[in-house]
Amino acid sequence: MEHIVKPVMDTVIAKNPGEKEFHQAVHEVLHSLDKVLDSYPNLLYHRILERIVEPERVIMFRIPWIDDQGTLQVNRGFRVEMNSSLGPYKGGLRFHPSVNLSIMKFLAFEQVFKNSLTGLTLGGGKGGTDFDPKGKSDLEIMKFCQSFMTELSRHIGENTDIPAGDIGVGAREIGFMYGQYKRIKNQFAGVLTGKGSEWGGSFLRPEATGFGLVYFSANMLETRSETLEGKTCLISGSGNVAQFTAEKLLELGAKVISFSDSTGCMIDHDGIDHEKLSFVKELKNVHRGRIAEYKERYPHAEYYRYNPRDTSNPLWNRKADCAFPCATQNEINLEDAGHLVENGVTLVAEGANMPTCEEGVELFIENNVLFGPAKAANAGGVAVSGLEMAQNGSRIQWKRSKVDDELHKIMKKIHTTCRRSAKEYSDEDNYVDGANISGFLRVANAMIDQGYV
Ligand code: NDP
Repeated sequence: MEHIVKPVMDTVIAKNPGEKEFHQAVHEVLHSLDKVLDSYPNLLYHRILERIVEPERVIMFRIPWIDDQGTLQVNRGFRVEMNSSLGPYKGGLRFHPSVNLSIMKFLAFEQVFKNSLTGLTLGGGKGGTDFDPKGKSDLEIMKFCQSFMTELSRHIGENTDIPAGDIGVGAREIGFMYGQYKRIKNQFAGVLTGKGSEWGGSFLRPEATGFGLVYFSANMLETRSETLEGKTCLISGSGNVAQFTAEKLLELGAKVISFSDSTGCMIDHDGIDHEKLSFVKELKNVHRGRIAEYKERYPHAEYYRYNPRDTSNPLWNRKADCAFPCATQNEINLEDAGHLVENGVTLVAEGANMPTCEEGVELFIENNVLFGPAKAANAGGVAVSGLEMAQNGSRIQWKRSKVDDELHKIMKKIHTTCRRSAKEYSDEDNYVDGANISGFLRVANAMIDQGYV
């Protein structure tokens, strides 16, 4: 089947030059699909592979805004509406200076399969901007969000495209963007998820990605008759996903020893308990500080400042049982993956999107490490966003316990679905193939049903 997948990949590279993250995400999915194409000749007849790698729509726009010094600034905004076969486009908005078209397309592509895995009626999309929120005043953030939404509002809607948060976009930014949407459209519509719980947001949405990641990891360990209790865990990042991953791990009796940000990483061999986690939450969410300040508060901790010349990340070179990359794409290179394997890590679950390079993923699988790929393991966030949409549609708010029950069920179902597909087409423990194949088949069948659109 290589003769079918390779020309598709070659075309993606030729038509999207320089978009290395997008190439990587497509390559990983096509590599898994190679194992099923024999069984589904109709996929080839309907040219599903050629269609699924092409976004339905890409919107790119100018965002002018005025900073606190009165200077006009200009940023670039994106929304990639990748696939709407299963429902309205759904996926987060990222505010980070590294944002470009390649990163937007890789995230949108991944989102299609992730959303499919949740079993909900959600299409896939992603958006964002190269605006850097670091060091900006609240007023600058508000002015930027208003300008961003002024253009984005033409393209989204509660039945069309429903963005959410991602890196650099939390409750504050969602609030400012929602206010501007409401003002422009004169509608109190469920057009964004991650809203405040007093004005349309779902309970547990902030926690959902991290909690879901831990539920999925517990499901993976259960297949080997193990639990998270007593396990030593490495976490990277210190934002939304990292914080709630840590919170749930502590609740289940695991020992969390690290956090990081884009400047450096810290290790606390005594373990990060609830009090230390509260310090990190306040540091990051209220003071918007650097993780280096952890060492000022807890001097026994180690801190390592990243250097552009580093070939590996010392965070991943520690004795531990489990690793949860929760910062950004490609944060685990092959050398890091080798260190994790050598140090005896038996589970890696991706909170961030595509944090492990492709060779690293292969190394984990070869070494029998339980590896939870992002599209399955971090799907809890979008799943609860889907539940927020359902609550908005019926104008009611579910209790926290009901949302948590649903999140548990969805993560369990994703786990079962991945293993079932993996067993049928690959190897039962290969969650990468399981997630790619089952996520893809649901979208592909819907595309076939809906004709050549
Ligand atoms: P946040 O903005 O809350 O936190 C991001 C964290 O990652 C920060 O600690 C940030 O450090 C760090 N980080 C960002 N870029 C880099 C970089 N280039 N190098 C090193 N560290 C970096 O974002 P989230 O926690 O929401 O998102 C984290 C990951 O999880 C992303 O990959 C996102 O796509 C994914 N994800 C998020 C979901 C959600 O519901 N929020 C859902 C599913 C996936 P610093 O403070 O220095 O910028």
